[in-house]
Amino acid sequence: MKTLLTIILLSLCLTVEAKEGLFLCTKVPPAIQLRMAGKSCPEGSEVNFDDLRYLVVTYTDFKGHRAFGEIVCNKAIADDLIYIFKELYEAGYPIRRVRLVDSYGGDDELSMADDNTSCFNYRNAVGSKKLSAHAHGMAIDINPLENPYVKGDIVKPAAAASGKDRTQPHAISKKDLCYKLFKSRGFVWGGEWRSAKDYQHFEKK
Ligand SMILES: [Zn+2]
Repeated sequence: MKTLLTIILLSLCLTVEAKEGLFLCTKVPPAIQLRMAGKSCPEGSEVNFDDLRYLVVTYTDFKGHRAFGEIVCNKAIADDLIYIFKELYEAGYPIRRVRLVDSYGGDDELSMADDNTSCFNYRNAVGSKKLSAHAHGMAIDINPLENPYVKGDIVKPAAAASGKDRTQPHAISKKDLCYKLFKSRGFVWGGEWRSAKDYQHFEKK
């Protein structure tokens, strides 16, 4: 089933003209739900797939090449993400990679350390016993290695210690297109939080 879906996606991607982007939004296909089970949907999690959407987006990677990514998000922000990723792609905004966190067994630290942009993950917020906005698919993390979570000496992912330096390439700031697009669609940026700074994180309430 997973192979079949990959073939369908690949053939869809191949039919897209060289520079054209592919942007799709569907209900979460059964094959993807299976992929998520026990990973971004741990056993016992209260996930209602009717509230989620599966997106395929096109982006420009760090080498300037066109690439295709998958996102699972809440249906409430699906249109926002399609709009934002279209705008980012048209502007050539560089994103390292966009995979489901299930490619990392649902392990957010591994996903972040691989600089993976991802959205839905049924997990608690960092350092909290409360569910994260990611557990509802209402938050997305962009280029996390360059845009870590920072609270005092705590840096996540741990591999991103240099990401505390906000002058390096791909660091999101208020001048950034990514920041402007998310703000224009009513998202909050973790880089503007008071205590901890979560520079990769955009969330809609
Ligand atoms: Zn986040």
